[in-house]
This record gives sequence, C-alpha cells and structure tokens, in this order.
Amino acid sequence: MNSNDEEGIKYLEIVIKELVVKGEAPANVLDDSNSMLRWWRNLEQTKQEEIQNQVKIISQTSTVIPDNKSQPKKKIKETKNTCKACGNVWFYGKKEETENVAASLQNAGKALTCCSGCLPALFIPDKEVIDLNKCPKCGSKAIVKEEVIHEV
Ligand SMILES: [Zn+2]
Repeated sequence: MNSNDEEGIKYLEIVIKELVVKGEAPANVLDDSNSMLRWWRNLEQTKQEEIQNQVKIISQTSTVIPDNKSQPKKKIKETKNTCKACGNVWFYGKKEETENVAASLQNAGKALTCCSGCLPALFIPDKEVIDLNKCPKCGSKAIVKEEVIHEV
C-alpha cells in the first residue's frame, strides 16, 4: 500500500464515518482499512462517484486532516561571509554574535578589575573572541557580508 492509498483511506474513513452516522453504512465497515475498501468496491458506481466528490471537497478544504508539510518552517537568520582575498565562505548566526559580545565584555571586565590586588580573576582563562570581521582562513578583512535565511 503506497502513501496515496493511505491518504485515500483516511479520507474514505471520514466519509464513511459520516455515512455511519446517517445510517447509510454499517459501523463495522470502519473496523479496518480492508473492510473499508471492500465496502467501497461493493458500492454502486453512482454512490462511489458521490463519495469521491465528497472526498475531493474534504481534501481541498484540508482542514480535517492536518498536513504536516504545511506546518510553518523554522527560519534561521545567518550572516554569510565571503572573503574577497581567498574566496573562503563561512556563516555565523545570532548565537555566535552574542556569544562573542559576551566574551569580549568578560575580557574587558577582567582587564578593568584586575589590579595587583585581585589575583583570582587572573586564573580565569581569556575567552576566545573571534573577530567576526576577519576571514578565519587568511585573516583578510576584505569580506562581503550578506544576510541569509535558512528554513529548517
Ligand atoms: Zn580569506
């Protein structure tokens, strides 16, 4: 059974449920997909067409069955960097940017509070601050920044 069949059976089930409520189909038809299909195949042509039309309406309005594909995608904004010197391309997101700011603030704070009298801070290693305006490969500052949006 391929996914189209499964999709079709889902719609068929919805229609049959309605018919069961109306008393136009026996409730045991809903037991499993095989009995639904069997019931469907034994229907008169005109009844089949009628149901197919109903299914079409259901699938067009598509409010009955949630479609996973239509769920909003998560978007991630990143900065695309291209080095004009060596052609290196790299990305960084908001996370890296804020982490970098935090690291440089911490380093700056350490420089300010560190005098001969406050030793403990000296044992905290310097946090690495990546220069986001420099090519990590060749160190050139000739870079082109571009904002890109990824869908996940
Ligand atoms: Zn470079």
